Order: sequence, then structure tokens, then C-alpha cells
Amino acid sequence: AVEITGLKKSFGPLDVLKGIDVTVARGEVVCIIGPSGSGKSTLLRCVNLLEEPTDGKIVVNGVELTDPDCDIDAARTRIGMVFQGFNLFSHLSVLNNLTVAQRKVLKRGEKEAQSIALRNLERVGLAEKVNAMPAQLSGGQQQRVAIARALSMDPSVMLFDEPTSALDPELVGDVLGVMRALADEGMTMLVVTHEMQFAREVADRVLFMDGGYVVEEGPAAQVIGDPQHERTQSFLARVL
Ligand code: ATP
Ligand code: MG
Repeated sequence: AVEITGLKKSFGPLDVLKGIDVTVARGEVVCIIGPSGSGKSTLLRCVNLLEEPTDGKIVVNGVELTDPDCDIDAARTRIGMVFQGFNLFSHLSVLNNLTVAQRKVLKRGEKEAQSIALRNLERVGLAEKVNAMPAQLSGGQQQRVAIARALSMDPSVMLFDEPTSALDPELVGDVLGVMRALADEGMTMLVVTHEMQFAREVADRVLFMDGGYVVEEGPAAQVIGDPQHERTQSFLARVL
């Protein structure tokens, strides 16, 4: 579902991604780990062209986003993304957060958009918050609403960039639980995370990034449990 080939990204003189090849098959969950500044967020942002790659090819569901003729806005509607924080429109109710893009981008009618919104709020366990404003929710609830909003667009793939790292520890579990359920339902997911236990238990594959490269990849048990590269070993020694 996601094919990244020869991806390079530079900001001026700074080479951040130096040649990345990653494929995420349909229904697969791939977790990306690695030190700060290694290019994890940049990689994720290149997948939906929030950052324009300097070189390389991005194909999502058979559509090449890096093709100059590609309708990026159309392709992006099927790529869900959840960031660390500041996900929701603060001036809109939970319900309207979930319906606005459905109506504007997918041209769904109000009734349909609302019923899809409610279904996805139920999926993340927050149906009772449908009329709340974002500021009335905990950080963990806001992240689950952000996930429900992304799901309301019928994504073929979900990108997560450290969705729990800004949360109080007691709120992390609920968000990871929702992500785990999504994985169990067969969602294709690319997840940047520092949650090693989540990666171990949920990821089909783990990538370790450092210095703009994927240094090591494989099943979680191998990359996290028995890393081969010295750089993976020293990173894990610091975070585990
Ligand atoms: P973290 O774990 O801290 O989130 P990361 O692995 O996600 O780190 P990136 O955010 O991808 O790292 O950043 C990689 C490098 O690219 C950093 O050196 C960063 O300063 C640089 N960088 C990222 N975005 C930009 C930008 N818009 N302009 C210039 N440099 C950038
Ligand atoms: Mg980052």
C-alpha cells in the first residue's frame, strides 16, 4: 500500500533523508524508531507530501504522489495522519471536527457525515463526547478524537507521528489501545513511536533510523530484542 523508493530530502545544505526504501504492505503495521533528528518525522511528512521530496518516489495505493501530474489533494484524502499534538480545530465541536472534511472534501451530506462521525467516535470509545469542545477533553481524548476524524475519511493508510509523546503517562494507554484495535482490524499503519512495548507487541516490522538512513529493520523481536547494529544497540540501551 505504501512504497517509498530512493527517498531523499534536504533542507538547504542539510541532508536529512539520504536514500530511504520502505514498503508497507496492505494491512501491515510498521513502527519507526530512532534518535531525535534522525529524520523520522520528515519521512512521514514526505509520505503525504507535506514535505516535497528532493528525490525519490512515493506510491500510495498505486498512485504515485511524486508524479508531477498527481492530484495531491485527492491522493491525500485517503492518507490519515495523527501528530503529537494540536490536532483538533479548537473552535469546532467534536462532531464538527469529524464532519467538516467529510463534507468539504468528500462532499458527503450532513446526515451521512454525522453518522460516519458517530460510528468512528464509538470506535475510539468517545461517543458521549460528540458535542464537547476540544478544550473540554483530556489530551488522550483529543488524540482519540483526532484518530476518529482521520478514520472518518476512509483512509487506506494511517500515519502516526509520536501520537502519545505529549500525553500524561496515565493517558497513553487509551490511545495505544485504540491504535492496537486498528491494527487488529487490518489497518495499514506507519507509526513513529518511542513506545517500545507497543512496537514489540503490535508491529509486524520495526525500522531503526539514524542519520537519514534506515540502519536496521526486521521483526520487532529481532530489531528490539536482538539488534545487530551497534547504533541500534546503543539507542535501545538508552531508551529501554
Ligand atoms: P524527533 O525524534 O526529535 O521528532 P525526528 O527523527 O522526527 O526527530 P525530524 O523532525 O525529521 O527528526 O528532523 C530531522 C532533521 O531535519 C533535524 O535536523 C531537523 O532540524 C531538520 N528539519 C526538519 N524539518 C526542517 C525544516 N522544515 N527546515 C529545516 N530543517 C528541518
Ligand atoms: Mg519527529
